[in-house]
Amino acid sequence: MALAFYNTLTGKKETFESLEPRVVRMYNCGPTVYNRAHIGNFRAYLFADTLRRWLECSGFEVRQVMNITDVGHLLDDADDGEDKIEAQAKREKRDPWEISRGHTETFMKDLAALGCEPAFVYPKASEHIPEMLEMIDGLVAKGFAYQVGEDVYFEVKKFPRYGRLSGNTVDSLAAGSRIEVREEKRHPADFALWKSDAHHIMKWESRYGQHGFPGWHIECSAMARKHLGDKIDIHTGGEDNIFPHHESEIAQSECFTGQPFATFWMHTKFLQVDGGKMSKSLGNVYSIDDIRAKGFEPRHLRFCLLRGHYRQPLNFTWPILAESKAALENLDDLAARLRRAQGGQGAAASADDGLEEVADAMDEFRAAMDDDLNTPRAIAALMKLRTHAIEERLGSMAAAQGLKFLENTANKVLGCIRVAEETLDDEIESAIAARQDARKRRDFKESDRIRDELLAQGIVLEDTPKGVIWKRKS
Ligand SMILES: [Zn+2]
Repeated sequence: MALAFYNTLTGKKETFESLEPRVVRMYNCGPTVYNRAHIGNFRAYLFADTLRRWLECSGFEVRQVMNITDVGHLLDDADDGEDKIEAQAKREKRDPWEISRGHTETFMKDLAALGCEPAFVYPKASEHIPEMLEMIDGLVAKGFAYQVGEDVYFEVKKFPRYGRLSGNTVDSLAAGSRIEVREEKRHPADFALWKSDAHHIMKWESRYGQHGFPGWHIECSAMARKHLGDKIDIHTGGEDNIFPHHESEIAQSECFTGQPFATFWMHTKFLQVDGGKMSKSLGNVYSIDDIRAKGFEPRHLRFCLLRGHYRQPLNFTWPILAESKAALENLDDLAARLRRAQGGQGAAASADDGLEEVADAMDEFRAAMDDDLNTPRAIAALMKLRTHAIEERLGSMAAAQGLKFLENTANKVLGCIRVAEETLDDEIESAIAARQDARKRRDFKESDRIRDELLAQGIVLEDTPKGVIWKRKS
């Protein structure tokens, strides 16, 4: 089956084809760095990483760009109101630049802890002001934008396709407008490309005035164009980005360049926590540190998030995370079992026993990922392979193939299974050898003592007809 993704723009699953053969240009809407990113935010960033990894597994070179919004994102994504970063700076009585720098650093550390591959570039909005002004000036010159005082607005009526991505119409936006509309706007849905505020700390001089700063939407249009060009293959974000953010990006970019902007628009559903929206008042806005504080590793969270399809609702609770940890350890165990069977330690009758089962699992995994990145179905294929491994139905050749697939494909995209052979400390190894000696001498008291001692260190021994095997206690 061909690689296909659900495209928000068309409302359909479509076969993926890149603009340039074997190269994918992908832009991911990144964080607004006014606070610590929470696990719900990471659902969207992890989706971007999974998409990039699967495209790479499928033979593409992926030019991935994820922006850092460090200025201009107003509260409630609205067109008026305070800048999120400046508002936070006021609350903390700190410099807004210091706030955005600190949270950017933490964000990069959290991404790495979750095992996300580094993007090609992480452009910062504040470092792309000339590129934004170039587009704003161009939109004004072409008659798509107009100046009011020192502000510049995009005129939505000039772009008939405005609303196509989100399903809104310009007329319905006028009727349903919640925000108090500035009188000077020609239409309530017109949005700011450039805003002026003498009290803003993060501000720049332009032909429109002394104290300006960019609107959030133009930032992404300008950064995508700078780093990927006028046309890109995939643009991603959370479902909350569809409107007004992505709708406005399309309008600005397409009016400026006169070409279609992104071929595929892909959006991740929100993560629910405890069955609802996470909130500060409920105390369930969790960060990666909260995950660690409860004794979990970031890779357990990664797996927990991958167990849900990105377009389906997903609920997070601590018991669900514990269950995900156990399930991931089953996949660690699959790797260990395949390694042993590859070494001829299994009970399978002949080397090519189980070849068909392994081939089925590989096909099913690939088909699931090709089908709009269906990670839960792909994971289920690996769990089924583990059942065959437990039943010792895999000969050495089948196990070798399975292990190679797990290392080079499945875990290249899932990125959280322990597939590498663990090396034991010398001390533990000699303890296992000493226990074997004791058993040979039929000194079971001593062999039990050594086994208990290892157990206290978290090493579980299992005696099998083919010798002793060990694993880490879960
Ligand atoms: Zn964006």
